[in-house]
Amino acid sequence: MTNQTVTERSHYINGTWAPSARHFDVSNPLDDSLVARAAAGTRAEADAAVAAADQAFPGWASLTPGARQALFLRAADITERRHDDIVHLLAVETGTGRAFASYQVRLSANLMRQAASWGYLPCGDILRSDTPGRTAMVQRKPLGVVAGFTPWNGAFFLAWRTIVLPMAFGNTVVIKPSELAPVSAGLIQAEILHEAGFPAGSLNVVTHAPGEAAALSDAFFESPAVRSINFTGSDRTARILAARAGQALKRMVLELGGYNPMLVLDDADVDHAVRAVNFGAFFHQGQICMNTRKVYVAQSIHDDFVARLAERTGGLLAGDPLAEGVVVGPLINDAAVALTKSRIRDAVDQGATLVTGGTCEGRVHAPTILTHVPDTVRATQGCEETFGPLLIVEAFDDAEAAFQKAQDTPYGLSAAIMTGDAAKGLEMASRMDTGMVHVNGATMAGEASLPNGGVKDSGWGRSGHYAVEDFTELRLATLTHG
Ligand code: ADP
Repeated sequence: MTNQTVTERSHYINGTWAPSARHFDVSNPLDDSLVARAAAGTRAEADAAVAAADQAFPGWASLTPGARQALFLRAADITERRHDDIVHLLAVETGTGRAFASYQVRLSANLMRQAASWGYLPCGDILRSDTPGRTAMVQRKPLGVVAGFTPWNGAFFLAWRTIVLPMAFGNTVVIKPSELAPVSAGLIQAEILHEAGFPAGSLNVVTHAPGEAAALSDAFFESPAVRSINFTGSDRTARILAARAGQALKRMVLELGGYNPMLVLDDADVDHAVRAVNFGAFFHQGQICMNTRKVYVAQSIHDDFVARLAERTGGLLAGDPLAEGVVVGPLINDAAVALTKSRIRDAVDQGATLVTGGTCEGRVHAPTILTHVPDTVRATQGCEETFGPLLIVEAFDDAEAAFQKAQDTPYGLSAAIMTGDAAKGLEMASRMDTGMVHVNGATMAGEASLPNGGVKDSGWGRSGHYAVEDFTELRLATLTHG
């Protein structure tokens, strides 16, 4: 790694690696080996990071689009150059498999290259006034400092999304990575922007020990310089943060969980649907907010679908994410393993059929498929994410009834419909109460340019260039010229 030793880490504040008096251990979810000793930040260090971002804001906001573009393009090149080192880091810190890690590197570089041109987007309008001799201008302005909470699951890419979207529109950023992935979800991004030559204070990263998130992030809610809170994580934590943001009258962007149902209609291409479900459900061990948690399949093709899916899923190699051919790595911690096991046990105890999986070695849990799950089982009701490799398949006779059932969830992130009839698929998609819906595709959107985001308990705000709405505000200026 550049600039720092492999194990002992600092904060990144005002363009320098700021040592901390205390550290905490970050360990490999596969075997508990030590990955890093990260800085256990304090409120004072978070205050310093916010102050640095505030001070850097006028300079960053007024940089020309071309200067900002050059920096983002350089950061994209450095990210690609460090591909192997990032893949290794994601495996040991978060249990991420090679394929998903590599994909995150490509997606991140892609996002930076797109964001590099957003400084050239129109930044206002000229309006006619009803007052003779007066011209009105609407100017799009950055907000100021945006504070981000970055998650451990899609750690590398989701941290970039939290950093790049606000920065591309002229804001400066302070992030607080998850205590489970301080290096992959913040410090490595700081290394890359540092090497690319981003101005001091434009990005600041403060890490913290488990149980100390609230004390550290008080700095974000209490500083008038912070204009928006950008959180990716669970709706449970989002409710706590939203209450605090409400009290402080700060804007928020929330990218939360999802249930992400898929409907497989009787005219669907079964093989295509099987591939999309196998990928959508078990991608990153089911620890992504867009993972498919439940599939509704037409009764006439149900048994064939389940048999083909079980064969494919049963063939997924689980174990050390760095080992050749392994696609299913460990779950992030013991709590995740316990939750997955208890959800499966609860369903089986109530009469569900275990089609494949159900076993666990250490924290490596086999991808698991359940059918015939009674409606009394919580995991099938769409009200909670298991965040593990568990998929429920349910047969239906009436597609419209299945559609209504699939919508009956507090979440509204993603959904998918598999059908040979594109018109029918689009008609159903138009009625789906989610931020994303895919006809004949997996529930994972997977492109940096497309606006990911949810409705209902899945959050507020959109990625891609639509994030201009989240990270800028409009100012009216008038000129009266007689
Ligand atoms: P998880 O608990 O699965 O890590 P969450 O989405 O619940 O994920 O939390 C995401 C991050 O939010 C955590 O890593 C933690 O640092 C932070 N967090 C949790 N509780 C609070 C809180 N009360 N105040 C501020 N931050 C918090």
